[in-house]
Amino acid sequence: MASGASVSRILCTKLLINNPLAASRSRCLPLSTRPFASSQSQPTDNLFTDEHAQLRASLRKVIDKEINPYVDEWEAAKQFPAHKVFKKLGEGGFLGVSKPTEYGGLGLDYSYSIAVAEELGSINCGAIPMAIGVQTDMATPALATFGSDRVKREFLAPSISGDMVACLGVSEVGGGSDVASIQTRAVKKGGDYVINGGKMWTTSGTQADWMCLLANTSDGPPHRNKSLICLPMDAKVFFDNVHVPQEYVIGEEGEGFTYQMVQFQAERMWAAAGCLLPLQKLIWDTIEYTRSRKAFGQPILNNQTVHFRLAELETEVELLRSLLYRTIALYVAGNDVTKFASMCKLKAGRLSREVTDECLQFWGGMGFTSDVLVSRFYRDFRLLSIGGGADEVMLSIICKYMDTLPKLTAKKAK
Ligand SMILES: Cc1cc2nc3c(=O)[nH]c(=O)nc-3n(C[C@H](O)[C@H](O)[C@H](O)COP(=O)(O)OP(=O)(O)OC[C@H]3O[C@@H](n4cnc5c(N)ncnc54)[C@H](O)[C@@H]3O)c2cc1C
Repeated sequence: MASGASVSRILCTKLLINNPLAASRSRCLPLSTRPFASSQSQPTDNLFTDEHAQLRASLRKVIDKEINPYVDEWEAAKQFPAHKVFKKLGEGGFLGVSKPTEYGGLGLDYSYSIAVAEELGSINCGAIPMAIGVQTDMATPALATFGSDRVKREFLAPSISGDMVACLGVSEVGGGSDVASIQTRAVKKGGDYVINGGKMWTTSGTQADWMCLLANTSDGPPHRNKSLICLPMDAKVFFDNVHVPQEYVIGEEGEGFTYQMVQFQAERMWAAAGCLLPLQKLIWDTIEYTRSRKAFGQPILNNQTVHFRLAELETEVELLRSLLYRTIALYVAGNDVTKFASMCKLKAGRLSREVTDECLQFWGGMGFTSDVLVSRFYRDFRLLSIGGGADEVMLSIICKYMDTLPKLTAKKAK
């Protein structure tokens, strides 16, 4: 990792990474005139260090050079070149921040992964960060934790270096929330699994080289009959007698449901981290826009209903940030954070809907066009309340921990 950055540079980086708008327009201003210096001077207390800031600054350079200049073009083409982008990110070490060094990872604790997830929010859309998150925190955590040396060498190492694109195959046509009810089957034949079934909604599905596939490998109880299998891909997410070697199973056969639940924790914390910068950016873009646009003889921002609402939203984003950082600190210290991670994901989804909807309103007709960022995030961030466990699934998990879930439902969910 980069070292030797001067104090002023680190301070500057800290300010910039916590305020995307400041990053674009305040680079040369003295501290006292930066609009957000006082409110955001110490958001990283107790969790993030100068090294986290340096990691973020290096990633920001890659994003500014290799990603953001092309986002509009890729949006228009409805596809981004995943292999090219991932290779750049892999070369910088960003795809394996908390993965083991034996397989090319940086071997850092999970707070560094969250710092990276947060910085990915400076990408000017929701879809590309999501594909990167699938690679780093959704399709590979179980492989890194439970996989054999063979599957780690074949699938994890090239995913960390950016030579392979990974996807996650959990959801199916028949349903996504009820993970236990999936129908895809993998039956042992000779030394192989023979796979039949199909997956749906697979992020990176058309570009991926392999899938972390959840399939039924026996007829046992639905929480004990599943396995995670590394499945080499040819862009098909429907499987008709597809053969893979049995060695491609991740960890113990039959433990796939449990591994996937563990893997979901990373996905949920990642999702909460990834929305912080975009939400703040949207709030500050909206401040700027409503300050310059006039109605009834005054800037729209001067209406108390507008500036009070934006202040409330900014407060909510800071509350989410605090909850997330607390959750990460507990996670890094080895605690079970299932309840807190679910709370983070629930709040991230709801707040993303609230911020994008409210900000879009203040942009008036401009907000309805696809020319402005607020409209892109209004679309992309709607996913947060659905993917990786819908809001209602998060509420059920929280209720389970609060012991308020009706017994019948709790029994069914076991
Ligand atoms: C853009 C996008 C990308 C995705 N990427 C992936 C991916 O890479 N890999 C993957 O495996 N999946 C992926 N998904 C699928 C995603 O995880 C599922 O859509 C999600 O889990 C919800 O499942 P479902 O769509 O089948 O909704 P359903 O399970 O049919 O649920 C529909 C709605 O019912 C409600 N509901 C569900 N359960 C309850 C409950 N217990 N109590 C009350 N209400 C409830 C919720 O409001 C929910 O939104 C992606 C989805 C989208 C839209």
